[in-house]
Amino acid sequence: MSTNDLQDVSLQLTHYGAAAWRITDGKTSILLDPYFTRLRYSGRFMGAADSPTAPGDTRPVYKDNDALPSDAALIDKHIDGADLIVHSHSHFNHCMDMPHIAKKYKSLVMGTESTTNIARANGVADDQLLTVKGGEDYQFDGFSMRVLPSLHSPLLEKRYYEGGTVPRDIAAPMVMCEYCEGGTLGYYLRWGKHRIVMFGSMNYIERELHDLDTTMVLVAAAAPRLHIHDYTGRLLRRLGQPPVVVATHWDVQAFPYGASQDAALKQAETFVAEAKAASPQSQIIVPRHFDTIHVDANCKVTGVVPGAS
Ligand SMILES: [Zn+2]
Repeated sequence: MSTNDLQDVSLQLTHYGAAAWRITDGKTSILLDPYFTRLRYSGRFMGAADSPTAPGDTRPVYKDNDALPSDAALIDKHIDGADLIVHSHSHFNHCMDMPHIAKKYKSLVMGTESTTNIARANGVADDQLLTVKGGEDYQFDGFSMRVLPSLHSPLLEKRYYEGGTVPRDIAAPMVMCEYCEGGTLGYYLRWGKHRIVMFGSMNYIERELHDLDTTMVLVAAAAPRLHIHDYTGRLLRRLGQPPVVVATHWDVQAFPYGASQDAALKQAETFVAEAKAASPQSQIIVPRHFDTIHVDANCKVTGVVPGAS
């Protein structure tokens, strides 16, 4: 037991679509993979080449060699502070909106060498950057964060592979194909009695999750998980059937906020069925965009409150 356990901490977790979250106790805020711009794209070199288009969406379509503009007004509408921003990996839909937030609020940024190189290139100060590779277990003021070596989603029916690192001398503005994966991490947050395992991509390394006492897990739940052997079952059993299981990264992230996500939600129901089968006692939540999950100091969910877009 650490001194963290002595704190009476209730948390609110707000989902912003894609793999984006804010976790706060009302004073300190942690963001995971903050992404609001929700770009349309085509000709992408990895994953699905072309994003689907929501009916009536006439926003620009970005290609691999296009610079990617963050929608600062949209970010500012939803984010009013961040003490720490953690990143699963460095693809644009996880990383590109981070510099705006980190510069505005002087947030610490934790992620791979690629992630911190993106931050630095975009003007985030060196003393805000915590570069990790997995295995670190860092103490912060009031909470601790263990970094879990992990894996990216098996896109392209398992044919996805992307080595390489975003170089330290990368120049801004970066174009889409420069946001390479850079390796993938998960996180284990201890805050008060809470023990939250967090992922931002559809995969994990089972042995890295051994003996993690877990009160809640954020599980990436989109269809690429189906290429992994017993993805949901192995994960939930390894984590000891956590009391609360939350789907993340389930949506069509190229659709603007407000567009119908009915097809993605239907797919997410298959994840719910897997989770129920593997961990019948767990509470399973598929949060809609801007929903806030309220969790009391004893790690019980007291409500899921819809937010405004
Ligand atoms: Zn990715």
